[in-house]
Amino acid sequence: MKQYGYGRQSVDFADCWAVLKVLKSNFLTGGPKIKEFEDALCAYTGARYCVSVSSATAGLHLAMLALNIESGDEIITSPLTFLASANCVLYGGGTVRFADIEKDTANISPVEIVKQITPRTKGIIPVHFAGQSCAMEKIYGLAKEHNLFVVEDAAHAIGSEYQGKKVGSCEFSDMTVFSFHPVKTITTGEGGAITTNNKELYEKLVHLRSHGLYHTQNWEYEMRDLGFNYRLNDMQAALGLSQLQKLERFKKRRREIVRFYNENLGLPHLAERDFSNACFHLYPVLVEKRKEFYQKAQKNALNLQVHYIPVHTQPYYRGRGFKIGDFPNAEEFYSKSISLPLHSALTDRDLREIVKRVKSIL
Ligand SMILES: *Cc1c(COP(=O)(O)O)cnc(C)c1O
Repeated sequence: MKQYGYGRQSVDFADCWAVLKVLKSNFLTGGPKIKEFEDALCAYTGARYCVSVSSATAGLHLAMLALNIESGDEIITSPLTFLASANCVLYGGGTVRFADIEKDTANISPVEIVKQITPRTKGIIPVHFAGQSCAMEKIYGLAKEHNLFVVEDAAHAIGSEYQGKKVGSCEFSDMTVFSFHPVKTITTGEGGAITTNNKELYEKLVHLRSHGLYHTQNWEYEMRDLGFNYRLNDMQAALGLSQLQKLERFKKRRREIVRFYNENLGLPHLAERDFSNACFHLYPVLVEKRKEFYQKAQKNALNLQVHYIPVHTQPYYRGRGFKIGDFPNAEEFYSKSISLPLHSALTDRDLREIVKRVKSIL
């Protein structure tokens, strides 16, 4: 029986060739492909500046450092996300608060955000779950009203649009962070990028990415901040450039697959808002008896995954005062959710086969 995973990369010979050319060039890292990739991401998203990084986790960390969060500062994010969306706040020395999700999109709810704002709130990290943009205009409005920053966790959302503009344009945020991990829509192996329209933030990010060094003259350099080595290399950037050329095609196929599942499975799935034109990263459905479904799926060569165990229920976060029951919508979604295979290499035949197997185990 053919095995299907919930996601996988699509790498072709053009991608391989792009990487090979870098391997035989003068620069494996610190070379021209980095800027080329960053410029291409600016052109694609419409943002003024882009900083490539070694992962989205590194990008989120740098975003928190660039915003100078301090001990006692509270940052609000979604409980239904990958750990990194919340962990970055702790890396920066801040305090995490969660705001529950909307039931139908599984995105962070602006109404719930309001309930979490205190005099110590400094920022919001909306997560574009499954690739669909959050209600950014509302979130940004709240942020302006309370003088907060907004960093979009767009790890799922390269290629997605909000109100006709690309996610990453930063029209309603200070920075947007993308991931190019192989399960995401385009890949560099490991990697990520931050877009922004703010020159000052851009310059901070560039220096923090590389040890906090500023080159002054000749051989001289000054370390002015405690930075890291969070650089992407030229092989990765070349792969990213090659992948980016296929993004619109990937998006078209991903949307076709989502439509096919919506029409042929009859299972509860995410709603898409009028403001959204998502490049879907995940296709979660809600099933009763999820554990049984998962195990039967495994026996039918469907290697599915659950997105996500709510962050506040992790032992580490429970140790910081959160408890089961705090965010009922996220917990309810998690209790039934399971993500079906979604990636651009799936053929129509694969889709019919997957639907058949899913129906047989319901
Ligand atoms: C994958 C993911 C990240 C982390 O991305 P890496 O590139 O693996 O560090 C962060 N946030 C969300 C929502 C993710 O899905």
